[in-house]
Amino acid sequence: MTEAKTIVEDAPSYLEVVEAPRWTCSLGGAYITTTAVYDAVPILHSGAGCGIAQLLGVYYAAGENAAGGQGGTSTPCSCLIEKHVIFGGEDKLRKLIDSTLQMMEGDLYVVISGCVPALIGDDIEAVVKEFKGKGDIIFVNSAGFKGNTFDGYEDFFGAVIDQLLEPRKQEKKVVNILGVVPFQHLFWKGDLNTVKELLAKLGIKANILFTQFDGVKKLKEIPEAELNIVLSTWNGHKTAKKLKETFDQDYISFPSVPIGPKQTSEFLRAVAKKLEIPAIEVEALIAEEERRAYRWVEYLTDAIIIGMPRPYAAFIGDTNTIIGITKFLANEAGYLPEIIQITDEPPEESRDLIIRELTDGIESVLKPEIIFEKDTFRIRENLRNRSFQVMLATSLEKWPAAKEFAVSHLSIAFPTYDRVIVEKTYAGYRGGTGLLEDLLSKYVGPL
Ligand code: SF4
Repeated sequence: MTEAKTIVEDAPSYLEVVEAPRWTCSLGGAYITTTAVYDAVPILHSGAGCGIAQLLGVYYAAGENAAGGQGGTSTPCSCLIEKHVIFGGEDKLRKLIDSTLQMMEGDLYVVISGCVPALIGDDIEAVVKEFKGKGDIIFVNSAGFKGNTFDGYEDFFGAVIDQLLEPRKQEKKVVNILGVVPFQHLFWKGDLNTVKELLAKLGIKANILFTQFDGVKKLKEIPEAELNIVLSTWNGHKTAKKLKETFDQDYISFPSVPIGPKQTSEFLRAVAKKLEIPAIEVEALIAEEERRAYRWVEYLTDAIIIGMPRPYAAFIGDTNTIIGITKFLANEAGYLPEIIQITDEPPEESRDLIIRELTDGIESVLKPEIIFEKDTFRIRENLRNRSFQVMLATSLEKWPAAKEFAVSHLSIAFPTYDRVIVEKTYAGYRGGTGLLEDLLSKYVGPL
């Protein structure tokens, strides 16, 4: 014990980096998305470690969440080993699906295959076909080496569109919400429900797909929407395009989940315009909500002004989270973003838009340096010799923030192991106030 303590204390500071993945593989993405749909049962066709790795690497990293009724150690898995690599795993999968249908209640069974079956050439589709007629069952080919969490999210919806959905009559003022990747987006539960409640105030029925008790029914209702709303610069776009091709559904995108009054009003105006909701109705709602939001934020103004007025800030996290939070703090609370590090490797074609959102979209003379970086060591190196006072980041940056940079730190992005997050949200008119409460609480009082 004494020796270990000495080693840590004597270690050069550059060694004190704790690394953890900032996303998982595409099997993980399809798996966590399945578990976010209540009554959908994932069936993993993979090595035994593939599923349990998501428990530690995704669920716990998403604000210390448990994996739910069908996740974690409850998930059926073919647990492939060496002999299946040689002789094939199809028979094992067949037996696993059969026993799962008997033992686990669900409205949709989702066979998710990983690296091993892809490498040995198992015909997952043929095995799954044998069970058609015994309940809704689909398969997602999501070999982990093919991509990451975000790809797995799109793969899941690709399978749902191709194998589950059927054309339905589109309904006026019904929309689907896409682009919020469950668990990977820390505040997905609270954010999605806030968006749903906001749109309901304009008479819009939002199908948020996740966290609904009739989740599989909601999946089947996807074609009923007249519009898909994608809350991301790049997540969910592939799905929205596929829905456009398959069901002729129009879509619009917003750069993130809207946080605070300005973004939320802008979001409501954009959706209302698209759905041809009279401006007078929208403006009446906005006026009422903004009045309340700005009245309540008055209680925070002394803490903002006296606690640390216009602090320089560093932001580290995934695109969607960082865009919403940075714009709110810069445009509505006077924070000065000095450096932004985007950790989710967005595709090249979306980077200009992301940079524009974080420069032109910020009402400040100071424009942040924007770096696309996922490596924790290099992220820390990029923070050196800067003057920021506040850091909004993942929990991987918590200890460097305290020990090396001596700044306040709040975990707002994946992975976050130092907060428990269930219904917490920073979305909407009240969400901005909630973010300021959490952030100011980190430094406002000395005692
Ligand atoms: S990368 Fe492949 S082996 Fe690793 S967890 Fe994902 S599916 Fe399993």
